[in-house]
Amino acid sequence: MKLFNTLTKKLEEIKPNESGIITMYNCGPTVYSHQHIGNYRAYANWDILHRALVYLGYNVKRIMNITDVGHLTSDEDFGEDKMLKGARKLGVSDPYEVANFFTKSFLKDMYLLNMWSPSGRSMVENFDLSELKEFGWIRATASIEPMIEIIKSMEEKGYVYETEQAVYFDVTKYPEYTELSGQKLEDKLVGVRDDVNVDSKKKNPADFVLWMKRYGTYADHSMHWNSPWGDGFPGWHIECSAMGIEYLGQFISIHTGGIEHIPVHHTNERAQNYGALQKEVVNIWVHNEHMQAKGGEKLGKSLGNALTIDEVTALGYDPMDLRWLLISVNYKIPLKFSEEALDGAKNSRLGVINRLKEKLGSGDREGGVVLDEFKKLFEVALHDNLNMSEAFSIFLEVVKSRESTKDIFATVSDFDRVFGLRIIESLEEKVEAEIPSDIAQLLKDREVARNTKDFVSSDRLRDEILDKGYVVKDTPNGQVVEKQ
Ligand SMILES: [Zn+2]
Repeated sequence: MKLFNTLTKKLEEIKPNESGIITMYNCGPTVYSHQHIGNYRAYANWDILHRALVYLGYNVKRIMNITDVGHLTSDEDFGEDKMLKGARKLGVSDPYEVANFFTKSFLKDMYLLNMWSPSGRSMVENFDLSELKEFGWIRATASIEPMIEIIKSMEEKGYVYETEQAVYFDVTKYPEYTELSGQKLEDKLVGVRDDVNVDSKKKNPADFVLWMKRYGTYADHSMHWNSPWGDGFPGWHIECSAMGIEYLGQFISIHTGGIEHIPVHHTNERAQNYGALQKEVVNIWVHNEHMQAKGGEKLGKSLGNALTIDEVTALGYDPMDLRWLLISVNYKIPLKFSEEALDGAKNSRLGVINRLKEKLGSGDREGGVVLDEFKKLFEVALHDNLNMSEAFSIFLEVVKSRESTKDIFATVSDFDRVFGLRIIESLEEKVEAEIPSDIAQLLKDREVARNTKDFVSSDRLRDEILDKGYVVKDTPNGQVVEKQ
């Protein structure tokens, strides 16, 4: 498979590690608030990437971090700690309680959106947090020791200096520092200039914190550990270097994240990896474009469009409608979010389901074969930088094709291993749930009329439904209704 490497700005063939495994690290959530649809665009992309790799026969090992410590409110080193901010919002004093609360909220959303866990297992509804590791999620607080070790090895190689406040990475020691973002160091300095006021001993404005001491601003910080540099807590960027190397080794085939991570978080991670191991650890850096508001603005709570999954379902959408929207384009294409876009995804999804329901006879679920010519095209689309719009159009061609119903069923079911849209399960669902309640009532009445062979009423009800803009068809599986 080829993916777009942010570092080389080219499509590159993915490479396995020396054991033949594609190793993948996903930058995960900071669990101080609910995640929103924009965050799930990233997770849905990496879910699809994982599923596609497995579908194409690759051997995959994937992990995702959960940041439950010390992540300050911005990419800058000095600011309000997100976990403490979350604790205040929830009205609790223990930041671990906040982390648990929002980790559970995140995992529930992942279940609702039918995501695989990073280890490739299906999600379960009531997740037991003691099982996080088996499912491929690594909490930062569970890897403090490896973080300290990696800072020590950078220190031995001369990339690190210490002040009363913190331990820093010296960016001037790594000339390739800005390669990932393509920014000039001078430009980068502007963005982080405020920091200089906080620690006057910091040598270069772009230097970043590896270990923050319980000193000055953070004297009372409630999450802290012992280290060779004193009591304190790790900087945010160090967790991804430490956990990636700890769990995936010194060769990471694919490292993912949103484009917002390019200039600071991943730039710093790459510098740390080099400082510790004197080599590039990540082979391909993959970044997804954001989900934007209708007019191209950033999604935001204040604009009311950074919806949570609960808010999406409260509007009457199935989580699979959102999933359809999130995965139907390539990760490098900015995706515009609006209720109309969600309606479009919902209509497409229900259109596919209704068409399949119409076609399927009772014996059509067994004995079909996957249609080879479509499968080949589908695989080509996946290999091509996860060309999802192409994969979807092949899928829709299958649904509409005149091939045998058994084979269509087998092929749809095969493709849905990658999409994860629960297409087959949805065929069992009652159609009433997806249509306005007055139409659902008329359908129920018509069902009764048909069961009692009252064909006059049945025809009258069909016409009444038609007047309201819906077409009823009678199939071996019962009534199927479609918007006109
Ligand atoms: Zn990260």
